[in-house]
Amino acid sequence: MNWKVFALFLAALSAALPALAQHSSSEPVLDVSAMDKTVDPCVDFYTYSCGGWIKKNPIPPDQPSWGTYEKIEDENRAQLRRILEEAADAKRPRDALTQKIGDYYASCIDEAAIEKLGANPLLPELQRIAALRSKQDLSDYAATTQFPPSLYEGGTLFAFRSNQDYKDSTQVIAEVDQGGLGLPDRDYYLKDDAKSEELRKAYVTHVEKMFELLGDKPADAVTEAATVMRIETSLAKGQMTRVERRDPPKLYHKMSVEELQKLAPAFNWNAYFTKTGVGSLASPFATLNVVTPDYFHIMNEEIEKENLAGWKAYLRWHAVHNAARDLSSAFVKENFNFYMKTLQGQEELRPRWKRCTNDVDNNLGEALGQAYVAKYFSPEAKQAALKIVQQVEAAMQSEIQTLPWMGAATKKQALIKLHAIANKIGYPDKWRDYSALDIVRGDEIGNSERASWFEFHRSLAKIGKPVDRKEWDMTPPTVNADYDPQRNDINFPAGVLQPPLFSAFSDAAPNYGDTGATMGHELTHAFDDEGSQFDAQGNLRNWWTEADRKEFEQRAQCVVDQYSSYTIIDDIKINSKLTNGEDLADLGGTLLAYLAWKEDTKDQKLEPLDGLTPEQRFFVAYGQGWCTNERDENKRLRATVDPHSPEKFRANGVVSNMKEFSAAFHCKPGQPMVRENACRAW
Ligand SMILES: [Zn+2]
Repeated sequence: MNWKVFALFLAALSAALPALAQHSSSEPVLDVSAMDKTVDPCVDFYTYSCGGWIKKNPIPPDQPSWGTYEKIEDENRAQLRRILEEAADAKRPRDALTQKIGDYYASCIDEAAIEKLGANPLLPELQRIAALRSKQDLSDYAATTQFPPSLYEGGTLFAFRSNQDYKDSTQVIAEVDQGGLGLPDRDYYLKDDAKSEELRKAYVTHVEKMFELLGDKPADAVTEAATVMRIETSLAKGQMTRVERRDPPKLYHKMSVEELQKLAPAFNWNAYFTKTGVGSLASPFATLNVVTPDYFHIMNEEIEKENLAGWKAYLRWHAVHNAARDLSSAFVKENFNFYMKTLQGQEELRPRWKRCTNDVDNNLGEALGQAYVAKYFSPEAKQAALKIVQQVEAAMQSEIQTLPWMGAATKKQALIKLHAIANKIGYPDKWRDYSALDIVRGDEIGNSERASWFEFHRSLAKIGKPVDRKEWDMTPPTVNADYDPQRNDINFPAGVLQPPLFSAFSDAAPNYGDTGATMGHELTHAFDDEGSQFDAQGNLRNWWTEADRKEFEQRAQCVVDQYSSYTIIDDIKINSKLTNGEDLADLGGTLLAYLAWKEDTKDQKLEPLDGLTPEQRFFVAYGQGWCTNERDENKRLRATVDPHSPEKFRANGVVSNMKEFSAAFHCKPGQPMVRENACRAW
């Protein structure tokens, strides 16, 4: 059966037979048939663990890459779809949350109604832009746009949100940050290699096409797109690089609103803050963190330099760009063509139900998440996961106590920090309140707009209030995990605690090798080059002695040097200063999981299984967490924006530093998976 047909067949099947796609308790966490035992594990461990998987799992046409994580994401999505289809049935009695998620989904899935509207939902916004009389009006427009002022980088002009104060972790303050670009990173505008030039051309063509879809004459669209590119290139020059942004002290510039007004006088900040609704939501603020002062200086220059017509072109582009996914198919397709096809190599647009499921997860994640955990995350799974975290933390404690390179004073602080880490597993103890958010059946763009504003106001309402440490940033079905250095907590949503990464019914070796290593990974982030600059309370404060910090930096540098030698694609090497925190976390996390597993099973007699020793099974499970097929375009994108190394090196880079690995597979000195000067920090 041809793959595309097969994928459709599977989707149809899982919709018809809900029980089939649920993970059965016998599903193996370690899959021997996914291995390629013809490969020597001491030569290329990744291919040894994943060779069979790589052959059996071609990239589906609607994916830019396809790995263990993406596969679970797709399965979770199918489960969410069943919840949403049931919730969308208005004939059944529904509680308030079911109404919201069901009607959001029903409005989004109604392609015919959306198609009929064409670009109409965007017209009021375009009229507002056309009506701007002077550049003085920019602040008013930015504060009241149909699509809310961005919380994060990438939105129109800049980002505005709340954040925990870097130096007073009990308080939430206002924060403005760089933003305003349509391409994924400043480097896309500034690098002069052939590939970057080619992508810039494709981007300008895409912007032109979007203007034409709005009804602009082709000649006008060309001029407008050139203006957009000129403005965004200038803004890009003012932005900090991703590597610079990994150094937290560089992101902290607390100033008064007056000082910001002096830094960027062409923009009326008081009017902007008042109009966004800050005054009515929380205590109005006198000071805020300006994350990137240089950016606001450049933005100011740009406002002065470009005329009003130029700014209108820029705003029109960002308006249509922000709305594209909610408009008719011409916009959806053109948006897909550039962002997914050209930039990431994805061959086909995802089916509408997948996009709508993601939208509900993004906008009502803790409403949908309640239904998801009730069905797909058992109390046993939560307990089993919690036990592994605790074992991994105990392993870290004994590692810190015995570290040869760290002095007693720093060790004491490190242990205080370790003991203060909160473990958040599965889902929040207290769910988010969505009662103020109206979801109206049949109003796709209105729902999207109200949900975005709801999230924006939720962020701003925290300004001036104490930090809520119980809050979650990821939704329960998310297939990801993280460590937050400001809250000093690790987060494992229910969505990532699923087979084959984790199973409450599996024996210990694969669970520790896979999810245990990820737990160790997140824990290590508390002590990586970035996280180690925060203390137990999440304050940016140096708790290291100078000598110990130097010792640590030498060890981190060993990992920087190791990963900088790996090639991603063509002649692109890993930007290992960008990936250092993740590489350190992979290395430390896997070691901690190994030690934790050994301790947890020390009274058991572990037997070989499927021709693998228990130690080998631990490592193969680790390797199989990274099995991935990826499109070349996506590799290039990630080389610029992703702080994680490619999966192959996340497997091989780690094990080649571990003597526990060479012992498990009897590797000899000089073999590729045995590094002569092995790195080790924790
Ligand atoms: Zn990480």
